[in-house]
Amino acid sequence: MNPDIERLLTLQRDDAELDGLNRRLHDLDAGVRALERERAEAAANLDKARADLAGEEKRQRELQSKFSEHKQLQEKNLAQLDAVKKAREATAAMSQIDITRRALMQDENDLQTAEQRARSLRDQVVARELVLLEVDERIRDTRASTAGEREIIEREIAAAQAKREASSREVSPRLLTAYDRLRRRGRGTPLAEIRGASCSACNTAIPMQRRNQIMSGLTIDACEGCGVLLYASG
Ligand SMILES: [Zn+2]
Repeated sequence: MNPDIERLLTLQRDDAELDGLNRRLHDLDAGVRALERERAEAAANLDKARADLAGEEKRQRELQSKFSEHKQLQEKNLAQLDAVKKAREATAAMSQIDITRRALMQDENDLQTAEQRARSLRDQVVARELVLLEVDERIRDTRASTAGEREIIEREIAAAQAKREASSREVSPRLLTAYDRLRRRGRGTPLAEIRGASCSACNTAIPMQRRNQIMSGLTIDACEGCGVLLYASG
């Protein structure tokens, strides 16, 4: 077999090992990734509840200041009533007092409703804070339970990476460029065997003359159908 092809096949085996380890790491973290999505949702729900509460508290302050204004107005009305001398003026003052009294009653109603709403929103904030804490706890637990295995896989990845780098240094730069480009496509392996008279990756027939050259190990050629580098075993 062509020595360049042998080196490329070694590199391809190293890459397959590295890919397998990376997949294991990815699978190991699947639980944490799902929990992190859950956490993002819980955090958004909490933000929403806090914003709702802030809005309600602002409304409460506005109602409170309206209530104070009406109270001051009523004090003024009552003082005016004390000061009037004529019956006609007294009637007008009484009527003003009545209007303001009704406004004050409405204010008290509104304040009560606003307080109820604020209380239930505060409960909602607390409940959602608890949900978030609970998700955080599950994330910590899941991370802790996979930490040992993760460390082992990461060590194996570092070793596989080093092995891959060493193997790639054995390959000529021109072939390595072609190999890496094929690998980045992410469709199958960069090298494929000739099976029968065809490329084993895509079944495109290889003309006899080129096939013979590849089989003799004199040339390294790419499949016309799918672009992989072809080799013949044995
Ligand atoms: Zn092919």
